[in-house]
Amino acid sequence: MAIKRHALALLLALICGLLSPVGLAVAPAEPLLQLVGSGSAVRLDSAALAAVSTDFGALFRAAPAAVARPRSAEEVAGLLRAAHAAGSVAVSARGRGHSTHGQALAPGGLVVEMAHGDLPAPRPTPVYDGGRYYVDVWGGDSWADVLSWTLSHGGLAPRSWTDYLHLSVGGTLANAGVSGQAFHHGPQISNVLQLDVVTGKGEVVTCSKEENAELFHAVLGGLGQFGIITRARIALERAPQRVRWIRVLYADFAAFTRDQERLIALDGERFDYVEGLVIVDEGLINSWRSSFFSPKNPVKIGSVAGERRVLYCLEMAKYYDEDDGGGGKVDGAVERLLRRLRYVPATEFVTELTYVEFLRRVHRAEERLRGKGLWEVPHPWLNLFVPASRIADFDATVFRGILGNNTGGPVLIYPMNKHKWDERSSAVTPDEDVFYLVAFLRSALPDSGDPTQSLTHLKRQNQEILEFCHHAQIKIKQYLPHYKTQEEWASHFGPKWNRFIESKARFDPKRILGSGQGIFQLPSSLLPS
Ligand code: FAD
Repeated sequence: MAIKRHALALLLALICGLLSPVGLAVAPAEPLLQLVGSGSAVRLDSAALAAVSTDFGALFRAAPAAVARPRSAEEVAGLLRAAHAAGSVAVSARGRGHSTHGQALAPGGLVVEMAHGDLPAPRPTPVYDGGRYYVDVWGGDSWADVLSWTLSHGGLAPRSWTDYLHLSVGGTLANAGVSGQAFHHGPQISNVLQLDVVTGKGEVVTCSKEENAELFHAVLGGLGQFGIITRARIALERAPQRVRWIRVLYADFAAFTRDQERLIALDGERFDYVEGLVIVDEGLINSWRSSFFSPKNPVKIGSVAGERRVLYCLEMAKYYDEDDGGGGKVDGAVERLLRRLRYVPATEFVTELTYVEFLRRVHRAEERLRGKGLWEVPHPWLNLFVPASRIADFDATVFRGILGNNTGGPVLIYPMNKHKWDERSSAVTPDEDVFYLVAFLRSALPDSGDPTQSLTHLKRQNQEILEFCHHAQIKIKQYLPHYKTQEEWASHFGPKWNRFIESKARFDPKRILGSGQGIFQLPSSLLPS
């Protein structure tokens, strides 16, 4: 403990020397702390520390000793050089803190807040070079900002998204970044051309597939273990103007997954986005992710469900432009694509909206939930990649069994093509050509009086799902993973584990980075919230 305090004091001294406006050299802790409080990039006050002591999940908490908000790669490098010199200090980059299991926390250490906060963010300009468009953005920028900047410059936009855009570029690239476009464009980590990364030794390294490739691949999906992404070069395309968003219902799981897999295999005429939902309770129809369903239509949905308790909703989107005859061209394409699907007749729900409205759909739901005080509640989320060959077993036991009548939030299910993922990245997926994301996006409502909405119940269900997969030998991989032991981490990474350890030794030899993930420093100091 004494050693840790000493290391931290040293770290603070070093940091302040590097970041304070007056450029302090190493100095005694007391005056230093005062100076830090008066406007430098490092904050030690309890309000600043409290703000980064938990995350969206609200399942764990751990206070850091300091929070820094660097404005440049050089400042990040200064922080990491200081932490590297101090040795045993936990450091975590924080994007928007939208993790659910404390992944961006730094118990007793330093949180490097990458968001610009209230300060205006510099607006990057897209570039056309070598036959392609791209934009260079700061690691802490949100995807919502990236969209608005690129759209305002010639109507460009990234092509692979997450469902929700108020996530940071660095935070999603540290995982993968998936949504309904991933089957075609790959995850967000497959759409990055170059990175600037500050390694755990405090070196600023530019990397890509061609240059410093080991670091590039290690960092993508690398859970913040090898460096802090300060700049990402994101591939862009011309943004469509409008979206036809279609949902259809299935009572038959085999027909549902057959159609999903058929859609993601199409080469020529295809949808631009394919996702899906499992609906086990009608309450969901009014919930945030299902707001698409018209409240005027519940009878129709109820009658489709019939005796079978579980429904599956296939969600598709086709992009188009105003000058395509006001959507005229898209009619034919959508009609041809839908004709081949085997959903329950007359269960089509169609919405026309702008591309931006479509991409902002979860943000609208967030605003509604915030209004009802239902956003800042515990989120025991479980995200799994399930191999396609076992998805029917998963349905039989999990959707039709373990879940019961109340899922506690939306359950997403959609397939992806493995060949769109770069195997050299640190991200791990099942060993099959097609695998599904199954995302249990639950909210616990401790005061609801309904035991099935309690945190304990939802956590127990998550555990049951994981145990079922283990016993049934369904070789799932957790997405946004959370484990308690290093053996579990080794098994998660499988054949990539040795390379993961080697990259750690090379880029973060003192193991200071990404402490909240608990891979190399077990997060014994993360407390349940
Ligand atoms: P944080 O939670 O702040 O950080 C996550 C991890 O990344 C930490 O380990 C952190 O240290 C590390 N990190 C952060 N910044 C950097 C950086 N610059 N360089 C290196 N490492 C860094 N995910 C999807 O893939 N698809 C979705 O559709 C999707 N929808 C979501 C919807 C909601 C409402 C929420 C809350 C989350 C959703 N997510 C989704 C999950 C999201 O991708 C993760 O939470 C992810 O961690 C990004 O969040 P963040 O930017 O807040 O990162």
